[in-house]
Amino acid sequence: RVEIVVKDVVKYYGDYPALRGVTLEVPRGVWQCLVGPSGSGKSTLLHIIGGVDKPTKGTVEVAGVRLNDLNDDQLAEFRNKNIGFVFQMFYLIPRMSILENVELPLILRGVPKARRREAALEALRLVGLGHIDPRRRPTQLSGGEQQRVAIARAIVTRPRILLADEPTGNLDSATTKVIMDIFTQLKKELGITIVMVTHNLELLSYCDRYARMRDGRIVEQG
Ligand code: ADP
Ligand code: ADP
Repeated sequence: RVEIVVKDVVKYYGDYPALRGVTLEVPRGVWQCLVGPSGSGKSTLLHIIGGVDKPTKGTVEVAGVRLNDLNDDQLAEFRNKNIGFVFQMFYLIPRMSILENVELPLILRGVPKARRREAALEALRLVGLGHIDPRRRPTQLSGGEQQRVAIARAIVTRPRILLADEPTGNLDSATTKVIMDIFTQLKKELGITIVMVTHNLELLSYCDRYARMRDGRIVEQG
């Protein structure tokens, strides 16, 4: 089954073409990497798949939903239901506990406290943080641990798709490996589809597939 279908997508920012005709299919449960030089359109493509940005031309179907047909409210609902995002910066809220950070997407959905707590603790277990005190603040953790909290927050709603933009860009190589192993585990245990943007070609060995971008196009796939 195909989870993501991007067809002939063009994206203009003003009169600048960030994407010049991109076609990409990602099967369900596959880890797809996007590589290529800075400015080649990787983040733009990720944003379009996540329903954050709209294509100027072309069609996008994600998790069985044709995003072209959705208005802004429907896109927000689509994201809430289907997409988890992870970034290079962790964007954790420093004055909230680890547990509250992970619970946040569920708080925003009005999930009752007991169920929220249970889901957040399970998400923390899935990223290998089952042993830490969840009442601590994120600033007391290492960078790698903070990214694991951010991943737990991204998966606490059990999205079908995880979108990651340079998730290890700020981490050393040992910590990078830990994060990549967590992604592998999430794929196996949750069957989640992953699209990851990276500059680091060494990480391609973790992906099932890659697409190399240049000047707003996919120039190679493997
Ligand atoms: P990459 O992720 O490969 O570094 P991006 O998708 O971030 O590339 O950007 C592709 C091009 O589009 C770049 O030239 C960037 O400056 C431009 N761009 C991206 N987002 C915007 C935006 N919101 N407004 C204007 N230009 C943008
Ligand atoms: P990266 O290359 O790591 O994706 P960027 O610095 O290119 O990061 O982009 C960071 C954010 O700024 C993105 O959300 C992108 O869409 C936006 N952006 C990038 N270039 C421009 C631009 N020229 N004008 C406005 N927004 C931009």
